[in-house]
Amino acid sequence: MAIVGTAAYPAAMDQDGWAREDVEIRRVLELARAGIARYGFGEELHPEDLARPWGNGRWMDNAWLRGVRDLLEWVAGEVAYGPLRGTPAARPTQYEVYADTADIDEIMRQGSRCPVRPGWPPPQSGEAMDATVHWLEGETDVPPVCEHALGAYQCACRDLAWMSASS
Ligand SMILES: [Zn+2]
Repeated sequence: MAIVGTAAYPAAMDQDGWAREDVEIRRVLELARAGIARYGFGEELHPEDLARPWGNGRWMDNAWLRGVRDLLEWVAGEVAYGPLRGTPAARPTQYEVYADTADIDEIMRQGSRCPVRPGWPPPQSGEAMDATVHWLEGETDVPPVCEHALGAYQCACRDLAWMSASS
């Protein structure tokens, strides 16, 4: 019996290569949107907040949730362009997602180990996209938004904090 190689793939992996079903992706997307709406910071982030992105836990959590939302909207097919590099794809493959998020490490380091770059998303959005990709891949089963619509910077109910601690 040849079973070599089959164990390398998560059981739930679909034809797009993600370990998550559409219904799961949309549920987490809706939680992210609910959290963003509840924080009430609005869609436009203030330049002074973007210039000093590590000062306010609620703002940081909002930035995290925006990262989850922006990536999952693309993965779910609701927008046709990637959130970071504008990669055109109606339903992106894994490789298109990796290509679009290629700058993610630098984005995450802004304001700590790199200067903040004007026009870039907040570092927490980059962290959240990184965590979201790991969740989509099945590397972790902890979704990037908890059941209370909170992200890594405000959630107290699930162990999301490790995601931001490693950055
Ligand atoms: Zn929570």
